[in-house]
Amino acid sequence: RSRAMLGEGDTPADGRPHVVLVPSAGMGHLLPFGRLAVALSSGHGCDVSLVTVLPTVSTAETRHLEALVDAFPAVRRLDFQLTPFDESEFSPGADPFFLRVEAMRRSAPLLDQLLAGTGASAVVSDIFLSSVVMPVAKELRLPCHVLFTSSAAMLSLCAYFPTYLDANAGGGGVGDVDIPGVYRIPKASIQQPLHDPNHLFTRQFVANGRSLTNAAGILVNTFNALEPEAVAALKQGKVASGFRPVFAVGPLLPASSPARNQATNPTNYMEWLDAQPARSVVYVSFGSRKAISGEQLKELAAGLEASGHRFLWVVKGTIVDRDDTAELRELLGEGFLERVEKRGLVTKAWVEQEEVLKHESVALFVSHCGWNSVMEAAASGVPVLALPRFGDQRVNAGVVARAGLGVWVDSWSWEGEAGVISAEEISEKVKSAMGDEALRRKAASLGEAAAKAVAGGGSSHRCLAEFARLC
Ligand code: UDP
Ligand code: UDP
Repeated sequence: RSRAMLGEGDTPADGRPHVVLVPSAGMGHLLPFGRLAVALSSGHGCDVSLVTVLPTVSTAETRHLEALVDAFPAVRRLDFQLTPFDESEFSPGADPFFLRVEAMRRSAPLLDQLLAGTGASAVVSDIFLSSVVMPVAKELRLPCHVLFTSSAAMLSLCAYFPTYLDANAGGGGVGDVDIPGVYRIPKASIQQPLHDPNHLFTRQFVANGRSLTNAAGILVNTFNALEPEAVAALKQGKVASGFRPVFAVGPLLPASSPARNQATNPTNYMEWLDAQPARSVVYVSFGSRKAISGEQLKELAAGLEASGHRFLWVVKGTIVDRDDTAELRELLGEGFLERVEKRGLVTKAWVEQEEVLKHESVALFVSHCGWNSVMEAAASGVPVLALPRFGDQRVNAGVVARAGLGVWVDSWSWEGEAGVISAEEISEKVKSAMGDEALRRKAASLGEAAAKAVAGGGSSHRCLAEFARLC
């Protein structure tokens, strides 16, 4: 095993692996990296350092980091100073999380100074950063692994997309993408920027996709029973040749829930859930990354109201939580909160989603299908009504529908395109999913399969143990 140059006092006398994790920006990345950190450190005998960039983009990330290192002091923080970054090159209002990713990518060459002297034995890079972190690890003669924070279907798209573009270089644009050994991803599910080959996101996506063949190993937060085709095809090297070992290690779950974010929510939503009958509540959330348009929020509100069901709804009207000051009343329309007072709880603040999904009163998750949300739904055996809005979410919604974890109306469009999804459609789908006994049973059985996968001897547990041995 090669190690980054050891400083004085850093001698790894015990020979334990020391894994340095490099997450990109946003809770959707910090959460699975934090979970991996805890699993490797508490369960697999590794020393773990987590590269962090301060200040974080969102308050949720700051609180989560503090709670994580408080609860798991063995996980060390390595603070990474970025080089100055001129945001004026980008259009005003550019996605702050994306800007942070680009700033991290440009600063990646400086990681060698940060890593030297740590005694690191392996690096795990976020997929968003992999093409720029890998050369640094190589320079330091450290194996560089990748943690893919989305579905195995998305991983296979990321791995295959460079080949697809090369083969279709003649023009005509991106169509359906038929991934060898996996399945066809329809054009309508390919995320919007990827249709433009010159988009910065596309250039990053292609560079990261190509870099995967140089990864020492690839970890993906999924489990065999949820994505059998994609996991098998990736492992067998059908998607891209020269692939290194692929480890399906999901669902990555926290050893214990850092409760700090929960304490900041003024609504006592757990008490509210306690007071609802078993399996009666629709939980509605669109993740931590993006805002939903005001128009769509109003349709959702009307749809939930018309469904007649109880609901807990986390509303996000702006991208970064720090900016989230618009009043709920304004967002949802006059009189809504009063009308649904007896059966709906609406909050703009952070909830501990895993606790919510595990609560016995929750029967359905109306979700954007951010991958962490899908994995948490699977782990809790809660069925999903997929309402993908951006990014990888339509591909993930396809996984949800295919696996039987939930339902998805694939004619519903991206956020901001081809109008909004109407209140009537939403209410009808909520009502039918709430009454769908077969769906409930299938989701519950996937929950059992998830629990088996991560328990001792399960496929994900074995994969993580095997991975730890490579570090
Ligand atoms: N992604 C990828 N390769 C990359 C960058 C992104 O496969 O180089 C995928 C990954 O699945 C990610 C998704 O693209 O989750 C969507 O990116 P988005 O801009 O929505 O960011 P996120 O919500 O993950 O921060
Ligand atoms: N999350 C949460 N409480 C909230 C909003 C989000 O705990 O109020 C968590 C959620 O459980 C998930 C993560 O934040 O683990 C969001 O990641 P995901 O991939 O679902 O979506 P993204 O936010 O990246 O779009």
